[in-house]
Amino acid sequence: MCNKNIMEIFANVKGKYLLGERLSKHTRFGVGGPAEVMFFPHDLEDLVSFLKHYPQHMPLCVLGGGSNLLVRDGGIDGVVLKLSAPFFKKIEKKENRLTCFAGVANATLSKTLIENQIGGLEFLCSIPGTIGGALRTNAGCFASSVSDVLQSALVVNRSGTVFEAKKEAFGLSYRHSDFPKDWIIVALTFKTEAKPAEQIRQTLEQQKQYRLLHQPCNARTAGSTFKNPKDARAWELIKQAGCENLSCGGAKVSEKHCNFLINTGNASAADLENLGDLIVQKVKEKTGILLEWEVQKTGKKV
Ligand SMILES: Cc1cc2nc3c(=O)[nH]c(=O)nc-3n(C[C@H](O)[C@H](O)[C@H](O)COP(=O)(O)OP(=O)(O)OC[C@H]3O[C@@H](n4cnc5c(N)ncnc54)[C@H](O)[C@@H]3O)c2cc1C
Repeated sequence: MCNKNIMEIFANVKGKYLLGERLSKHTRFGVGGPAEVMFFPHDLEDLVSFLKHYPQHMPLCVLGGGSNLLVRDGGIDGVVLKLSAPFFKKIEKKENRLTCFAGVANATLSKTLIENQIGGLEFLCSIPGTIGGALRTNAGCFASSVSDVLQSALVVNRSGTVFEAKKEAFGLSYRHSDFPKDWIIVALTFKTEAKPAEQIRQTLEQQKQYRLLHQPCNARTAGSTFKNPKDARAWELIKQAGCENLSCGGAKVSEKHCNFLINTGNASAADLENLGDLIVQKVKEKTGILLEWEVQKTGKKV
């Protein structure tokens, strides 16, 4: 892909770009082959200018915190965007609304919530990843999800057109969105409510303690591997199918929570994907239920 014309586009960008950057450095699993080009736009103007020049037929994808992704060992063709420049980490407060740019790490929101006595977004602070990824996955926990608090989002499409879209445009349902694949999320605006700082602090602490107790928070994992099927819990089905102690190469099922897969140190993406597929097969044989991956798999196999 890196022909002369494409590289000329990068000669004119303000942000950083890297050729062959290993995506294992950008995913929570710590796996993933190289991106042909990884581009970190400086600001929205830089992103728009890049999109207007980057041919429509060339592959393009966006990476957030890499906490819901299994990037395969063969890497990703084309350009991988990461909105991690300071411009994309802004948080703006307006009356009873809060606008967070896509590169804001969910965890860093807690400071703003406490300082400004803003409630309603506490659940989001405990979910690894970024604001952009949270919309794509309709992230949620503790009985709330992005769809409950989102008002609108600033989007740029593949042609470089910037527009504000209302919540309804994103087709949000349980851990799912169905907005066009080529929409890049620039910022989310949430509705908020006034809440005493101490109450917010307590909720955040309770949620943190719950996670530390029940989930392998500090391991190389991408969270829940499978969605909960209707009227069932994925972890219970995995347990029922006798998959709790399964492993494959450097990948294994977490001892703390059997719906989490772990890279124990030297797992390849193939180890993790094969382990997940084996679980799907065993659960189907035992219970008749077909588990659906919640972790998004992307990139080429080797
Ligand atoms: C320990 C642990 C616990 C977890 N617990 C939860 C939980 O309780 N609830 C939950 O919902 N999830 C949970 N997750 C999964 C993960 O944190 C969420 O899915 C999170 O929202 C992913 O955000 P991200 O920025 O890491 O996105 P990534 O993993 O980088 O990407 C996910 C998707 O979002 C897209 N994307 C990212 N940024 C943008 C953008 N700016 N514009 C358009 N598309 C974009 C990507 O292309 C990809 O399709 C957990 C993960 C871990 C590791």
